[in-house]
Amino acid sequence: EAQRRSSTKKAAAATYTPLSEAEIAKRVEALLAQMTLEEKVGQMAQITLDVIGKGDNRYSSHEPLSLDPTEMRKALVEYHIGSVLNTANNRARTPQVWYQLIGQIQDVAMKQTRLKIPILYGVDEIHGATYTVGATLFPQQIGQAASRNRELVRRGAEITAYETRASSIPWNFSPVLDLGADPRSPRHWETFGEDPYIISELGKEMIRGYEGEQNQVGHPEKVASSLKHFLGYQVPVSGKDRTPAYISDEALREYHLPPFRAAVEAGAHTLMVNSAIINGVPMHTNHALLTGLLKEELGFKGLVVTDWQDIEFLHTRDRVAATHKEAIMLAINAGIDMSMIPYQYETFCNGLVELVKEGKVKQERIDDAVRRILRVKYALNLFERPVTNPKDYPQFGSKAFEQASYQMAAESITLLKNEGGILPLSKGTNVLVTGPNANSMRTLNGAWSYSWQGEKVEEFAGKNNTILEAIQKEIGAQHVQYVPGVSYNMEGKYWEEAADRMDEAVAAAQGVDVIILALGENSYTEKPGDLHDLYLTEQQTELARRLAATGKPVVLVLNEGRPRLLSRFEQQMQAVVQIYLPGNFGGDALADVLFGDVNPSGKLPYTYPRFPNSLLTYIHKPSEEQKGQEGAYNYEADFNPQWAFGHGLSYTTFAYSKLSLSKEELPWGEQLTVSITVTNTGQREGKEVVQLFTSDLYASGITPDVKRLRRFEKILLKPGESKTLSFTLNPQQDLSFTNSQGKPVVEAGEFEVLIGDQKKRFRLLENGGAN
Ligand code: BGC
Repeated sequence: EAQRRSSTKKAAAATYTPLSEAEIAKRVEALLAQMTLEEKVGQMAQITLDVIGKGDNRYSSHEPLSLDPTEMRKALVEYHIGSVLNTANNRARTPQVWYQLIGQIQDVAMKQTRLKIPILYGVDEIHGATYTVGATLFPQQIGQAASRNRELVRRGAEITAYETRASSIPWNFSPVLDLGADPRSPRHWETFGEDPYIISELGKEMIRGYEGEQNQVGHPEKVASSLKHFLGYQVPVSGKDRTPAYISDEALREYHLPPFRAAVEAGAHTLMVNSAIINGVPMHTNHALLTGLLKEELGFKGLVVTDWQDIEFLHTRDRVAATHKEAIMLAINAGIDMSMIPYQYETFCNGLVELVKEGKVKQERIDDAVRRILRVKYALNLFERPVTNPKDYPQFGSKAFEQASYQMAAESITLLKNEGGILPLSKGTNVLVTGPNANSMRTLNGAWSYSWQGEKVEEFAGKNNTILEAIQKEIGAQHVQYVPGVSYNMEGKYWEEAADRMDEAVAAAQGVDVIILALGENSYTEKPGDLHDLYLTEQQTELARRLAATGKPVVLVLNEGRPRLLSRFEQQMQAVVQIYLPGNFGGDALADVLFGDVNPSGKLPYTYPRFPNSLLTYIHKPSEEQKGQEGAYNYEADFNPQWAFGHGLSYTTFAYSKLSLSKEELPWGEQLTVSITVTNTGQREGKEVVQLFTSDLYASGITPDVKRLRRFEKILLKPGESKTLSFTLNPQQDLSFTNSQGKPVVEAGEFEVLIGDQKKRFRLLENGGAN
């Protein structure tokens, strides 16, 4: 296998010579010079497969797909359409079917059109090649963030790129760089959580994994990434998907922008725009942000694509354009390069051609957009290699890939509570496994898994283990009883729940030593996942309370995409384990954690709220010092989370000591070195995430954040072992804040460094040496 792989690698590498940026630019210009206006505008449109597909066969996973030759000709040859994506209705296909399907499309584009420009095919492969049967599915981004393991994030993205290209798909709508600062959002789990630094760091790793070290995306094992959703998505006032948000310029730049800035610097090839209205302005018309900030200030050279149907929505939903044609004008002039789902594409193409002829959209704007699109197509090597043969991808779905997914799941699992050290359980324990999430591959994976809402998971994930199956394998079926207690509706209304033999579950609890209760959510994303209430449902709450009332210890396993509130019964649970949406190997990883084969090392990537009126992130403004002050507001009630951001227990214990700073008075322009010693003071080997925060004690104009994460490192320590870590902070980046004019500033004065339970103050001296 290894030999075969290395020879395949050599063969693939030998036939791939990356084009330099200069060479790409030369080819783009030469092609652009030959294009008519109609041909250019067609490149700017992305249609769904449904438009050119035919009959029921359109939805088949294993049979070759029949495309409609008349529709294909119309779209690709007459309208010069440049890009295709999958719709929500479409489901996963085998690599062979993808190869054949995309091959047919490329054949029309490259043989029947005048300029023979390949199609750019894009799909959401957000936690593995999610639209390919047999692909390796990973934990969703929120769990990956909990692992805090940069290497594993990169490795997962490398595997995703490999399996995506093995399916002939060169463009991945990932990573999500949105700030996961509102747990009500139905796409919270698609984010890396609430901290801008973690999102930036892990976002860069994902881009490296997808695009390669030098962004040579033409390599047959790499894909173009898409940063999404620019900018300010996922913090709507209502908590509901794609509804208006109000974000100050200062907050937009301080918290939402840094991950995108880092990703643009990392050379990502494409970016997708936020569907929502920010500060009253639909993002798809926001020239200041799309052109001014993104393209000019950040210098983004890649292609900017709309989100689903969003140009039309400017007219029909957002009502900033009286006609569809006006909507097209606003979006393209704001800086959009490609329209995803320009219903109807004829309206988009004809409308845009007219707008150019009427002088309402400048020819230069069209040329700029098309340059960006063609650059991506050349960079992806699509002109030479429009499809890739699955035969050249022998590692697809391999054991080694599965192991990487398991490893990520194991490192993401976060032990939130472990009263009396009940965990790990011994393997002779008799357990009742119960709850609606106990026996479902669908809930382990969440949405965007073989289909949009994850409805097809059970069909395709058959060989993998649910929580129940994994526990049975771990300790032997004779030790395991199973009664669901509550069940999800798996047909259609998947948010509905029903009591499913709840009495029987409670009765069964009498006969076991420990109850393993798997609660959480069924799979969902986007609007179908909107909630009225963040509490765990009544049915699940009742099940938890009744089980606890038996007097048997309950180990609560949370399999959820966002932190559902537990404060109505959490005190009655002996242990709480957060597994997020851990993917196809999440059941196995959980069983290994519960029974002690794996020592948990995940850390919450968000603040777990206790009450629905206190959905604040750890960065929230009032400073620690203000708490409990005479006459101050009741800040305890403001914040007081169930579990803090960064929380996560281990089966061993770690002690922090010897926090030291290179200088207590830091001259302006110098860097600060911070060192800390971490010791494993328990009995087991374990991994610890060392998290360095800083806190600015006073700032002018803007109340400083409580604290901010500036560095993190995951280390492995044997029992009794100590490691000393040292971090270098650069005040210009690490101590700056955005002022009310939207400008980054660094101010002299007092700061604090916090690592574990250690704190130390230092003073940044004025420029010129005074203090
Ligand atoms: C989502 C995007 C996704 C796109 C294409 C939209 O509804 O918001 O994140 O990339 O669909 O599937």
